[in-house]
Amino acid sequence: MATLAASQINFTHQPHPSPVPVDVRDAALADPGFGKLFSDHMVSIEWSEDAGWHNAQVGPLTAIPLHPAASVLHYAQEIFEGLKAYRLQDGTMALFRPHANAARFNASARRLAMPELPEDVFVEACRQLVAADRDWFPTVPGGSLYLRPFMFADEAFLGVRPAKSYKFLVIASPAGNYFKSGAPAVSLWVSDYTRAAPGGTGAAKCGGNYAASLVPTAEAFSRGHDQVLFLDAAEHKWVEELGGMNMFFVFDDGSILTPALTGTILPGITRESLIALARDEGLTVREDRYSIDQWRADAATGRLVEAFACGTAAVVTPVGRVTDPHQGEFVIGSGGPGQTTGKLKDRLVAIQRGAAPDPHGWVM
Ligand code: PMP
Repeated sequence: MATLAASQINFTHQPHPSPVPVDVRDAALADPGFGKLFSDHMVSIEWSEDAGWHNAQVGPLTAIPLHPAASVLHYAQEIFEGLKAYRLQDGTMALFRPHANAARFNASARRLAMPELPEDVFVEACRQLVAADRDWFPTVPGGSLYLRPFMFADEAFLGVRPAKSYKFLVIASPAGNYFKSGAPAVSLWVSDYTRAAPGGTGAAKCGGNYAASLVPTAEAFSRGHDQVLFLDAAEHKWVEELGGMNMFFVFDDGSILTPALTGTILPGITRESLIALARDEGLTVREDRYSIDQWRADAATGRLVEAFACGTAAVVTPVGRVTDPHQGEFVIGSGGPGQTTGKLKDRLVAIQRGAAPDPHGWVM
């Protein structure tokens, strides 16, 4: 079976049959929040065992017909990505490291026994959607167009085996500005639930991981915390990550630590970017294990001065306090945003918005 290249795909751009009235759209785009509004178009590409990837289109956003026996509805064969298009200072639109999302998408595909999509096709699909829906950029300063590429098994078959047909789609959703009130420090709830076990799907971005995180997240919210923190499955001791963000720790000697990618943590693109930027700044960055007990002890002695979480949605979020259901609460540093956290966030945001040189070639 021949592999498709981005240049070989005939993206058919169809106008939306019933665009959202401009006045409704403009009002909503002034403060879109997150994930509630959707743009006019979507990209769709199909895969079948016989034809491989085919029928690539940028068409109107529309409901998808699905057979009730479609595998995704029964065995959750589904993966997704999340990335943002930004408006640069000069007014042009840009994607941040879309090839990294494409590579992670294919790593998820391999884990879920799904076909890989050529990276260039993934990136071109994102690029085409941003071009088609440029009018959907939020008008709020600092807003972005959040892109959600995803793939699911649509074969009608109830046997448990990899499906023989899939759909890849990309949709876009205007997103507001996370920085409008500055970044307050968040409070974490240490969950007794486990997010991912060794040998499981923790490093893949599959819908099932998120379904399993809903109860622990609801528990964190109901106890008045902002985010849930997961520890490792085997010893319930080592810090892994939050429901949708990776963790970083800053010590009094200026060094930085982030949990190593052991297969149970999602390899965040923001995480990887911050490691590179911290090293550019001459900081020592270690990828290693860090226990919740050591964290508590280091916060008490002042050896740990800052902690922050990172991800595409909120970029960098300082962590002010942590509550463990068994040992109670502890506070990090002043309980507010720290200097290194702020510096790394500013560096990353400046690159993403085209306000600083891009030494790693991340902005497309
Ligand atoms: N961990 C989890 C579980 C996530 O869902 C995300 C968001 N994709 C992240 C970490 C951060 O990844 P990224 O920096 O690529 O957004």
